[in-house]
Amino acid sequence: MDDNDKLENNAEIDEGISKPLWLRELNEAQKNAVTNLNGPLLVLSGAGTGKTRVLTSRLAQLIATRTANPFNILAVTFTNKAAREMRKRAVDLVGPMAEQITLGTFHSVAAQMLRRHAELVGLKSNFTILDSDDQLRLIKQVMEADGLDLKRWPPRMMLSLFSRWKDKGLTPEKITKSEAGDAVQGRAKSLFKSYQDRLLALNATDFGDLLLHMLTIFNQNSDILDLYQKKLTHIMVDEYQDTNVAQYLWLRLLSSSHKNLCCVGDDDQSIYGWRGAEVGNILKFEHDFPGAEIVRLEENYRSTGHILAAASQLISNNQGRLGKSLFTTDSDGEKIRIAGYWDGSEEARTISSQIESLLKDGQLLSEMAVLVRAGYQTREFEERFIAIGLPYRVVGTRFYERLEIRDALSYLRLVYQQSDDLAFERIINTPRRGLGEATLQLIYKLSRTQNISLFEAAKKLIMSDDLKPQVNRALSKFIEDITRWHSIHLDMQPDALAEIILEESGYVTMWQTHKSPEAPGRLENIKELVTAIGEFETLSGFLEHISLVMDNDTQSTDGEVTLMTLHAAKGLEFDTVFLPGWEEGIFPSQRTLEENGGAGLEEERRLAYVGITRARRKLFISFAANRRIHGLWQSAIPSRFISELPENHLIEEMARGLSIGRIEPVMIGLAETRVGKPGYGPGWDRMAIRTKNSQNTPLDMNNVQVITKEQQSKFTIGDRVFHLKFGMGDVQEIEGDKLDIQFDKAGRKKVIASFVTHK
Ligand code: ATP
Ligand code: MG
Repeated sequence: MDDNDKLENNAEIDEGISKPLWLRELNEAQKNAVTNLNGPLLVLSGAGTGKTRVLTSRLAQLIATRTANPFNILAVTFTNKAAREMRKRAVDLVGPMAEQITLGTFHSVAAQMLRRHAELVGLKSNFTILDSDDQLRLIKQVMEADGLDLKRWPPRMMLSLFSRWKDKGLTPEKITKSEAGDAVQGRAKSLFKSYQDRLLALNATDFGDLLLHMLTIFNQNSDILDLYQKKLTHIMVDEYQDTNVAQYLWLRLLSSSHKNLCCVGDDDQSIYGWRGAEVGNILKFEHDFPGAEIVRLEENYRSTGHILAAASQLISNNQGRLGKSLFTTDSDGEKIRIAGYWDGSEEARTISSQIESLLKDGQLLSEMAVLVRAGYQTREFEERFIAIGLPYRVVGTRFYERLEIRDALSYLRLVYQQSDDLAFERIINTPRRGLGEATLQLIYKLSRTQNISLFEAAKKLIMSDDLKPQVNRALSKFIEDITRWHSIHLDMQPDALAEIILEESGYVTMWQTHKSPEAPGRLENIKELVTAIGEFETLSGFLEHISLVMDNDTQSTDGEVTLMTLHAAKGLEFDTVFLPGWEEGIFPSQRTLEENGGAGLEEERRLAYVGITRARRKLFISFAANRRIHGLWQSAIPSRFISELPENHLIEEMARGLSIGRIEPVMIGLAETRVGKPGYGPGWDRMAIRTKNSQNTPLDMNNVQVITKEQQSKFTIGDRVFHLKFGMGDVQEIEGDKLDIQFDKAGRKKVIASFVTHK
């Protein structure tokens, strides 16, 4: 069947009206978006309303109506996987000609373009895209050449500053004085320039460069821009709320002549602010493209009534949003189940049994997902799943396979057994000790000729004069350290030992000074590893466990439970979703609140909204009253997001063996504000509020803020502050957790302290 046959076939006669397959499956608003093929169009609507489906159908419609040839269409998705799925669907609808659509992520599409025009920015078409290690080496060279103290100015910090600039579409020439600030004694701009020059000299780019160079090329070569404007006559973008400024500028240039730009997104699902995404892009679409058609989809096809109601109620607590209403014609379905567990392992155990019983009832594992706030949280579930033989997949990397975990395990293995050559190789120069390739070669040679382990060979080498004094010192120190840790390993708790090793070796410091966006997550993983070790009596017991866990392959043809972070789950859907770890500090994450205040809290809440709206039919949200973090037991308070969920859509469940009486003693911080019987579940927060107001005054959800005490006393009268909605202002009065602020533009207002940040 050729493409035309396929088109005809799919456009078969339906009750006398010729309507292609993809149009028949759409509601009126969706159809409007799909058939409106020319001019700027923004589909702005909530989760599960069919935005992605609209894009796919629109691809088919553009081709079927011959409005555009497949090679005239550019579609941008958030992940490569999403791009593959969209292409497959398009091929199903209109045939193999859909293969010619330019479809990919911003990075992949920009990389393709740049290879074609590389010489215009001084590159060759076979340029290398550097990974983060190479980038680091490069920036270090540049800084050293400039005589900078790398301890004072961590090179990682420079890299992340440069990448922020690139996300904003800024080349070195465009960096203003105020943008550069006084970082590195005001030399950030010239360093940026040198770094970029070095990249060019090496015929290399980093990720941010791909778009940045294309922007430069378009801005300096109107003929090339013209070429692309003529080639890509119809442009579509999914997840538009998470585009950064550079991506936005690139889209604007490409579409500026024909204006056939269709973006779909949901401001409530903007969750990449920390990586430079600008939700403002979506808000100013109408302004940038006057006369733009705005389509709002309100029918949610994904979730049941209860799930949708809970999501809508939760997100309504955000102030900085456009606001939209959603409905479903689906039934209310099952209420959301909120469970409190005594500790994290009870949570993992219970969720695993719930998954098993759903499986017995005939549900597919591939239709179930456990979504966590931070990567390290997968560990507890992975171990449980392995223990009971439940097939699972981790989107991203399995816990024990992560780089930092493998490094840390190598330290432990080498301390336990010095003849472990693989471990030795892995950590000999991690963190960097100046023991490079040349030294390693010497060690290898000695080990081969004398048939001894690398460690033994290294020991012999330091007794000789084969090494430069500096190298000899570094290697001696390494060997002394390993020997010392080995000598104490039997007398210590293994988790305490691990902490000592990882601290003293400089491994933890390496990540602490590492300013890349992944570094905090890696540190969390290391802490989680220490927690895992704490469950064992001896180091050998733990290492034995690890070799079994690592060896386990639970792949299955009947599908696997998906385990991933909330960030990775964007755009996806599952029949059943588990959202564990809803505790203050974990979710919302303490770090985000500390770094970004009120705006950070709103981003966390959007993440919760994304999580809830991944579920079609069943949703389980849970928290644990106690968690072992970094080897120490800590009590936890249920997430404020739980108390923001509407009670009539929930069922509260108490795990077996968990009595209110047992929870009470661990409710540190809340206990003093509570009278009467301690609350439970979402009630905990409400109880605290009631007490604070002393009378049974109506509940004011905003008062949930009472829990985070530090936030209350952060401000003093006269402070200059910033509020997401009202802008800059001065604090006039403080009443508990509320601030009375004279805003520069919005006048005098009372606002919740935690939505305000110092400026
Ligand atoms: P998100 O905001 O999470 O990315 P979305 O708006 O992109 O969601 P889709 O993933 O396109 O939503 O659609 C959600 C679900 O609803 C999908 O399973 C899709 O197939 C289904 N769906 C969308 N529109 C319709 C429709 N008109 N009739 C039936 N099902 C639909
Ligand atoms: Mg989508």
